[in-house]
Amino acid sequence: YTGLAYFVATKPYGAHVLKFASQKDVSTCSGFSALAHAESKFSNRLRATGVGLCPCAHHEFVHPKGVGYLQKGERFCNMDFIFFSTIIPLLLLNVVISYNIACQWKINLLDRMNKLPENMCIPVAVAMSVFMFGIPKFHASAHDDGCSIPHSLNLMPGVGQTDGEGIERNWAEVNQVANSTKEMGPGARHDTLDDHFGHHNWRKFVGLGKPLVAPPHWECDRQQAAFQEFNLAVGASYQNQLTAMVESWEVDKTQPNPFTNKECGISEADVCAHFAEQEKAAAMDGRFHHHDISPSVFITLGLSLEDLQRRLRFEITDGVLSSHQQTELHKRQTSLLKQIHRFWSV
Ligand SMILES: [Zn+2]
Ligand SMILES: [Zn+2]
Repeated sequence: YTGLAYFVATKPYGAHVLKFASQKDVSTCSGFSALAHAESKFSNRLRATGVGLCPCAHHEFVHPKGVGYLQKGERFCNMDFIFFSTIIPLLLLNVVISYNIACQWKINLLDRMNKLPENMCIPVAVAMSVFMFGIPKFHASAHDDGCSIPHSLNLMPGVGQTDGEGIERNWAEVNQVANSTKEMGPGARHDTLDDHFGHHNWRKFVGLGKPLVAPPHWECDRQQAAFQEFNLAVGASYQNQLTAMVESWEVDKTQPNPFTNKECGISEADVCAHFAEQEKAAAMDGRFHHHDISPSVFITLGLSLEDLQRRLRFEITDGVLSSHQQTELHKRQTSLLKQIHRFWSV
């Protein structure tokens, strides 16, 4: 229980976390404030409420000294220590950090690094040039565009098709031992988890050959053909213009970002609000319409009926249904028919 395998060194880790015992992490991104604190539920009287993990996003190996217990959910002080503990021995030229709250965690990261034990710090200038921050692809949509696009793994040179979600696949395995390790004393829990991480890595290691032995050629051909067709359609001059824009953005993030959409069309809600305003103005002038339902509500109702019909049609063609599912489907069909009838009667 000394930090010789997958867990961080116990004593310095404990001392570091204790320094921030009463500090609250603040979040400025709208997407996930609930998520960040979700794990602090049911934590009364527990010595550890979970583990924080920093594996390799590319191979999904659990790294040496890349795991630490969490005392009160996933807090920055825990994750800082775990991250630097496992990254320091690696001496990498470029590090893409994929973390579902990277947009928040990276703010003041280097200030927080200086509060870690001295042997875990790297020069700030080096860190600034080496670290790139991304958000795992499945998690990215929970962030607003201003945040998810600059952190998109799809747009980072060198990342390839890494989705950054390997950590979740790790959890799918390791979570299964959560209930049994919950009741263990610290030493036994530590050994058990080390064993499981070791087993995970071994299975990963012996399985790595498979995807390398049989690369799916047909998929490669298909993608290349689609890409060539796209290139032809776009035309050389526009292609060069766009490439220049992408390259200058990759070097200097203050340049215009070719991947963001500056103009966004009006949404359905905007149109509804506009009509509602017009109807209110008309009512104030004493102009009322003859029906119970206003024209804008009528159109909205029609659109939502169309949507319901489309969804039902999709579900009906989708495979064999159990009798319970069939009952549900019939109920929804009846309710839809009633609504359509009402719509016609207006
Ligand atoms: Zn790796
Ligand atoms: Zn964000």
